[in-house]
Amino acid sequence: MKKDLQKKKKRATFLLKRRSGLKAAICLAGTFFSALFFFSGCQMEQQSFTASEQTENSSSTSEPMQEPLAVTAAGEVFLLLPDQEAACTATLPEALPHVEKDDFSVQVFEGETLAFSGTAAQLETFVPPQNGLYRYSFSNGNFSYTLMVETAFAPQIFWQESEALLGEALPLSVRYTDAQSVTAETSLSFQPVFYPVDDGWVSLLPIHWNTTPGEYPLTIYAGTSVFELTVTVADRTFEIQNLTVDETTTAQTVENDEANAEWNQIIEPLKAISDSEQYWSGCFLQPVEGEITTQYGMIRYVNGNPTSVRHSGVDLAADTGTPVQAAGKGRVLFAGYLQLTGNTVLIEHGYGLKSWYYHMDSLDVLTDQMVEQGQIIGKVGSTGFSTGPHLHFAMSVNRVFINPWTAIDKGFSWGGIEDEGDDF
Ligand SMILES: [Zn+2]
Repeated sequence: MKKDLQKKKKRATFLLKRRSGLKAAICLAGTFFSALFFFSGCQMEQQSFTASEQTENSSSTSEPMQEPLAVTAAGEVFLLLPDQEAACTATLPEALPHVEKDDFSVQVFEGETLAFSGTAAQLETFVPPQNGLYRYSFSNGNFSYTLMVETAFAPQIFWQESEALLGEALPLSVRYTDAQSVTAETSLSFQPVFYPVDDGWVSLLPIHWNTTPGEYPLTIYAGTSVFELTVTVADRTFEIQNLTVDETTTAQTVENDEANAEWNQIIEPLKAISDSEQYWSGCFLQPVEGEITTQYGMIRYVNGNPTSVRHSGVDLAADTGTPVQAAGKGRVLFAGYLQLTGNTVLIEHGYGLKSWYYHMDSLDVLTDQMVEQGQIIGKVGSTGFSTGPHLHFAMSVNRVFINPWTAIDKGFSWGGIEDEGDDF
């Protein structure tokens, strides 16, 4: 960690030297350099902007004055001069640099990577996504001012909300930690697993539909930091349906030992699989357009049987042969025929998040294949335990089936600083 920081510091110093060298060249060579720098990445774009501003200003009557710029950071006011560099350490996001000059543009670099570019006002909402050494460069077109900021924030939990409805999944992330592993404990029926990403650790916490509404403790361990959180599970109603199915069909499928054994042997072990890479991005898509004939979580009584079964996904009615799209990018864990669910596809989207497609007429993908969001994976049909052509579409986090509309309407994002709680 320390070594990394030193490396970053060295790299930052090198960049500063190179920049001051370039500045002289720009003043002399004007437009030619502007065109050249345009193609050389973000670092150079700013230089070309500075150069053109300087060209315009050179026609004005007096030389601009090198006035110091007041920047507030880490509880201090720094009076920055164009050719000097100040440094500070911010231990809280509130301690990040702040400047009350509307006419200043700001760029923030981590090493050579541009982390922020915008106005002084926009800078108010920028928080570096991970701890490190950042170079804040303030410019009014005439002069650039530099403040090196080392961020050393305490580990922090991000989540979009602490309340979830039955069948929702809460995205959780831990940032600003150098912990070697992050673990969690909860009295909910599912123990969330955290996966390492570039700027921390992430996890999805699904709330099973049979959870009793109420408050549940969630403890997260990140190195030496312990977070005691509370998840509030809110109630929601599920529809009830009485379904009549031909006795021969039920005998062949749901009441068929062979069919159930096949499912248990082939599919159940796949629920435990979690790829440690996030394949999906953004919201999921509805895999086929069609009338919703059965909603997620519906309580269903088949042929008057007093024991209800729950509907794990949504049924979308569509004509046989209608193409079915993959709801998100992922890896096909299973593509094949099963007696219960007919032609079936199961896709792992990463971190245990899965999408399920049943009763298809035919399949267009193979087990272990990667699929893109929107790729055709099969055609609508009525194979397996089905009363007519439709797609049964479901989503789960490992073995917990969740409301697929959440994935389609909201998606799962790992939160931002806007979602910060009182956890500092
Ligand atoms: Zn269904």
